[in-house]
Amino acid sequence: VTRPGAVRPEEMRRHNLSLVLGEIHLHGAQSRAELTAVLGLNRSTIGALVSDLVDLGLVAEHLPAQRIRAGRPSHVVAPRGDGPYVLAVEVAVGRVLSAAVGLGGEILAQRETRLTTRSRGPKSVVKIIAADASWLATQIPLNSVRVGVGVSVPGLVRESDGFVNQAPNLGWRKVEFGALLSTALDETDVYIGNDGDLGAIAEHRRGAGRRFEHLVYVNGSVGVGAGIISNGRPVRGAGGYAGEIGHIMLNPDGPSCHCGSTGCVESYVGESALLVAAGASATHSSDAVAEVFSRVRAGDQQACDAVETVAVWLGRALAGVINVFNPQAVIVGGSLAEVMRLGAATVEAELDRRAMAAARSDVVILLSGLDSSSSLVGAAEVAFQPLLSAPDMAQLAAAN
Ligand SMILES: [Zn+2]
Repeated sequence: VTRPGAVRPEEMRRHNLSLVLGEIHLHGAQSRAELTAVLGLNRSTIGALVSDLVDLGLVAEHLPAQRIRAGRPSHVVAPRGDGPYVLAVEVAVGRVLSAAVGLGGEILAQRETRLTTRSRGPKSVVKIIAADASWLATQIPLNSVRVGVGVSVPGLVRESDGFVNQAPNLGWRKVEFGALLSTALDETDVYIGNDGDLGAIAEHRRGAGRRFEHLVYVNGSVGVGAGIISNGRPVRGAGGYAGEIGHIMLNPDGPSCHCGSTGCVESYVGESALLVAAGASATHSSDAVAEVFSRVRAGDQQACDAVETVAVWLGRALAGVINVFNPQAVIVGGSLAEVMRLGAATVEAELDRRAMAAARSDVVILLSGLDSSSSLVGAAEVAFQPLLSAPDMAQLAAAN
């Protein structure tokens, strides 16, 4: 008879498998001895769990290339090269970036498709992702099985089913994106998330936010959004729509915003504001934005003034965010990271002036710590989550 509330051995084993696989996924190859020390489980338990993960096809053990100490060398446990993978996708205003990502976070293959006004519609984007999924499947080891799909969208995404309520910069309104993609990929579990939320998860697990349990990730390019981690957990709000700092109103008499309001943060710190202030009349593109930054480095006065102006508004916006959330770190990503790099003194001065002293003294402003797109890395993390929570499901995936 099992007492109510008692942990059954099967649940304990799954929990421990999850711990070991999560450790290897996040921190890479380790010896059994290191796993024993880090996870606080005894040696024989770690041995049994590693054997189970090997049997499940998730990790492999090999001898280290170099022997560091005399005596019996400890085997190194690493994600298996032909183990399971996930499809991670970042849908942005100018491109779709799709990647096959292995356990451990390694990008095995990726493909980028430029989006134009014509190809930016939901049906066209679904088609691109489906084509990418097929192509990526031919680029990875033969035995690898896809165990999840995660997609980042720059908009208001309902967490429960991937319904995109609004993605203003893509021109999407009320799109059953989760359902469309699920059908196109013939996959029941497709996770659609907001780019800011997924970026925050990525920075927290693998980037500049690893040391912090309270952080705000601000992602700024054409649009400006944020993801919030509080007490180590994402803050998404009732429907999943929290974090839209781009639409905090800074000036009621400011320019009208496509969200329906006026004078939003996005109108002052988004790429369009930067391009206009820098006198770059060319149509919006990431190349045009990069050109402004290189003009700043070359000492061009108008470009310097433009970055300075955006930095002032960025400081004002971040002061509000810091007052509301009292984070340990604000991590800036996207092209706003470059504004932060060039205008850090201005942003910091504005924070000194406007953030409440107590909250201000707790916070550091950092740049994104990830080489590839934070949203893409976050999409891969959420796609792996079911497997990481229950590694024994790998058997089912391989059997299908
Ligand atoms: Zn707005």
